[in-house]
Formats: sequence, structure tokens, C-alpha cells
Amino acid sequence: MQHLNIPPVNHVMVLGGQGWVGLINHLGDETTIVNAARVSFGKLKETMDDRDITLLEYLIANRHTSPLEHLVFTFSIHCPLFVRGQWHRHRTWSYNEISRRYTEIDLEFYTPPKLRCQAKENRQASVENPDFDDAALRRLISDHNAASLKLYEELLAKGVCREQARGVLSQNMMVTFWGTVNLGNLLHFLELRDSDHAQWEIREYAVAIKKLIKPYIPNVAKYFAKQGQVW
Ligand SMILES: Cc1cc2nc3c(=O)[nH]c(=O)nc-3n(C[C@H](O)[C@H](O)[C@H](O)COP(=O)(O)OP(=O)(O)OC[C@H]3O[C@@H](n4cnc5c(N)ncnc54)[C@H](O)[C@@H]3O)c2cc1C
Repeated sequence: MQHLNIPPVNHVMVLGGQGWVGLINHLGDETTIVNAARVSFGKLKETMDDRDITLLEYLIANRHTSPLEHLVFTFSIHCPLFVRGQWHRHRTWSYNEISRRYTEIDLEFYTPPKLRCQAKENRQASVENPDFDDAALRRLISDHNAASLKLYEELLAKGVCREQARGVLSQNMMVTFWGTVNLGNLLHFLELRDSDHAQWEIREYAVAIKKLIKPYIPNVAKYFAKQGQVW
């Protein structure tokens, strides 16, 4: 049996090698989308031609999204707790996660590979400063992560239940969950999370997801590339 904390075969590493997202499974491809759009004609096609690509682009451009919902992806995601918090705001995904009520093994923590400074004009944003000397601060974060794990283990050793002891683990704790989503809602997620407005950490995952799904939706990727987006 494979352990869930190990990335699946088809995965992309992120956060300087500390996190990953993998594609577990998918249902359908681009022909599924155009077949769904033309279902009223009662005919199915097995390969895409130029007319299908034009139809696909029309559907996306006009937000005629229901045919996109027939293409479904399942990902395994290994990310810090605070990224998971942002991710799970996307209600159109289905989620399952390792429970810290069941297991205390394999606890890992994220230490940012580079610290960013607080943006002055936007309280939600950060700015990169190449001159910011972050080595000592990053060490403090790493020490804090280790101290939270030590306290957690002490609590467990004294007989405290896992469901309460976990409260002391830092926001940098890595969690692993599965997320399943259809292409329509995934494109919405990618629009919001591969964006200058999104936090760098979750953006890393959005960029990685584009790499994972591009082989299954080459013409969708080309459409967005034509709009100037990086795919
Ligand atoms: C840069 C950024 C900053 C953010 N900052 C904050 C913040 O400060 N505070 C905060 O609380 N959140 C914040 N969020 C989260 C944000 O408000 C959304 O919760 C999150 O992006 C999920 O978007 P969504 O609801 O469109 O996605 P999904 O939940 O996947 O929904 C997709 C679409 O389905 C429809 N939908 C789904 N559920 C419902 C429903 N119950 N009723 C009606 N329509 C529904 C909507 O059209 C929705 O757009 C931020 C998000 C981003 C990207």
C-alpha cells in the first residue's frame, strides 16, 4: 500500500521542493467537452477537428461552461495548512484529507525558501526585496516549527488526545489532501489563484496544475495562451 504523503507518479514539486501536487486521475478529454456541447444532435465524435476547436474556444469565451463540467480531475496536494485554508474556500471542489485525529506520524513543516516584505499600499499583499536579509529569520521560523512539534509530542506523551494536541502545531504544518474538480470550476480556480493578487505559495500550486493538465486539454491551454496567459 502506498503512503499518502508520497507524491503520485505524475506530480510537480513546488515551494522549493517542500510541497507537491499530483494528478491522481482524470475523466474525459477535450472531445468529451465538444460532444457534451453537441449532445442535442445525438452524435458522438472520437477525434477533434478544426470546427471542434472553434466550438471549444466559443464555449470558453462566452462562459458557456456546462460542457466543461464533464471533464473531471482528481489531484493529491501536499501543502502548508494556510494554503489548504485558502484552497478549501473553493466550494466547488470535493475534498478528503489525512486526519490528525487518526495519526501523528510524518509531520512536516514548511519553511519559506525566501521571505517577502509586507506591501505598504495593500494589506493583503507582499513584495519581494532582494536585499532583505532573511537567513536568520528563516532559521527562527524553522526553530518555531520544531518547537511546536516538540510540544505536540510532549502533550501526546502525557496522554493528551490528538484532536486537542494538534492545536499547537504551527500554520506551516504540511497537510495532504485529495481534491476533485471539474474543468469549468478548475479554470475559475486557476484564474483566481494564478494571479498577481494571490499569495505566492498557492500560486505555485496553480501554475503546477496547469502543467499537469495541459496534456489533456491542449486546445484549452492554447486558447488562454492566445489571450496572453501563461500556460
Ligand atoms: C486574492 C484573493 C484574496 C482573498 N481574500 C479573502 C479574504 O480576505 N477574506 C475571505 O473571506 N476570503 C477571501 N478570498 C476567498 C474568496 O472570497 C473566495 O471564497 C474564494 O476565492 C473562492 O472563490 P469562489 O467562491 O468563486 O469559488 P467556488 O467556491 O469554487 O465557487 C465557484 C463559483 O460557484 C458559485 N457558488 C459556489 N457556491 C455558491 C454559493 N453558496 N452561493 C452562490 N454561488 C455559489 C459562485 O459563482 C462562485 O464564484 C480571497 C480570494 C482571493 C483569490
